[in-house]
Amino acid sequence: MALHRTAGTRAERPADADASDDDHDVYTSLLGGRTLPRRAMPDAPTDPFNVYRLIRDELDMDGNAAQNLATFCTTWSEPQVHRLMDDNLAKNMIDKDEYPRTAEIESRCVHLLADLWHAPDSAGTVGCSTTGSSEAAMLGGLAMKWRWRQRRKAAGLPADRPNLVCGPVQVCWEKFARYFDVELRQVPLESGATGLRPSQLRDHVDENTIGVVAVLGVTYTCDYEPVAELAAELDAVQHDTGLDVPLHVDAASGGFVAPFVQPDLVWDFRLPRVRSINSSGHKYGMAPLGVGWALWRESGDLPEELVFRVSYLGGDMPTFALNFSRPGGQVAAQYFLLLRLGRAGYRAIQQRCLDSAARLADEIAAMGPFTLLHDGRGALPAVSYTLRDPDGPLDLHALSDQLRMRGWQVPAYPLPPDRQETVIHRVLIRHGMSADRTALFAEDLRQSVAALGRTGARHGSGPGTAFHH
Ligand SMILES: *Cc1c(COP(=O)(O)O)cnc(C)c1O
Repeated sequence: MALHRTAGTRAERPADADASDDDHDVYTSLLGGRTLPRRAMPDAPTDPFNVYRLIRDELDMDGNAAQNLATFCTTWSEPQVHRLMDDNLAKNMIDKDEYPRTAEIESRCVHLLADLWHAPDSAGTVGCSTTGSSEAAMLGGLAMKWRWRQRRKAAGLPADRPNLVCGPVQVCWEKFARYFDVELRQVPLESGATGLRPSQLRDHVDENTIGVVAVLGVTYTCDYEPVAELAAELDAVQHDTGLDVPLHVDAASGGFVAPFVQPDLVWDFRLPRVRSINSSGHKYGMAPLGVGWALWRESGDLPEELVFRVSYLGGDMPTFALNFSRPGGQVAAQYFLLLRLGRAGYRAIQQRCLDSAARLADEIAAMGPFTLLHDGRGALPAVSYTLRDPDGPLDLHALSDQLRMRGWQVPAYPLPPDRQETVIHRVLIRHGMSADRTALFAEDLRQSVAALGRTGARHGSGPGTAFHH
């Protein structure tokens, strides 16, 4: 009888028996001898252990997320975060009445962030969680568009040609502009600049400008745009022309870096011009993928017409979101991280990352062929660099391929207009990227440069490029 039990089918095993998965050889099973279905769903159910194992094997081939130095997003989490995600698998963020504690935790996170970002009245600040900064940017953009339209209509002026002024923004702002019918006035980069400069604003803002976006942690180079200087210039524009243009800060990454390691940098609600801020909880906020934050300075900055009210335990729960159903675990994990790390915990982690980035930047500068665009100091814990001699034998695309052979993902891409002739590399240092691993990366970069020097190879995607040099 006992023998029968141990020899029983896999389906009889408890669902949490993962630890003993490996005692079962999926590769000699029926499923292990076939390719997995690609175009049509199978008729019969299959043993969960075998399917799990084979899907995991396929996903393993994505590579190692920790070696993906292209992403800003969290790639390392404490076990309690994994547990909270699992505990809350079935919680739906939108069901505020069914899950009032989840809703309360979201609201607490908003107030903790409002306090962190120096909102004048952090208890009265309005905000919400989102799926990431992209959704938060859409909400921020919509609020600016609605407010602008109200002002125009109240003044009896046409409100049919809104524009948004920004520098080199992440693609979510291009999406916002296209989806919501707003002209995106993307100001070209000046020579030597990594972002929007205050002196460029005056030529681009006008009565139809719904707002200006400043980026704290430009996606391309990881540098900060000078938010306070941009705000001061908008103050001057208002003084000279009467145009009152709000400033939104896209602090997707910087929102969870600057408050801890650059506390004297004034970029947030300390500037009255800043009416709204977005940030990605799943970037330097260290929450798992799928959470961002959008906050408005005062309730008046978020037009009432955009807020949907659902009845909530006899009360009233305002929601502002593009999605309906959305998982609640990420928000719980964000609250866990804010409490578990505290300011000192975030500071220690971000400072360690900055130190590693600065050391890596020095090493890269000393290698010879590179010019730094961001040296890992004073902005995001990251390094961006370009070639000292763009017409020389080294090619950043080929170098990316070399690094990829060593498991590292470091993309090569051009800067936005008007510097698109400059191709750059960008390396993000995140929690989980130890000093040792950073040193290993530097060594692999050095060896990759040497390997390319030996073969003299440039990125040969076609005959046109193969014979250029
Ligand atoms: C990553 C990023 C975004 C988009 O954020 P998601 O959280 O990935 O949706 C927007 N703006 C900037 C500056 C970013 O770095």
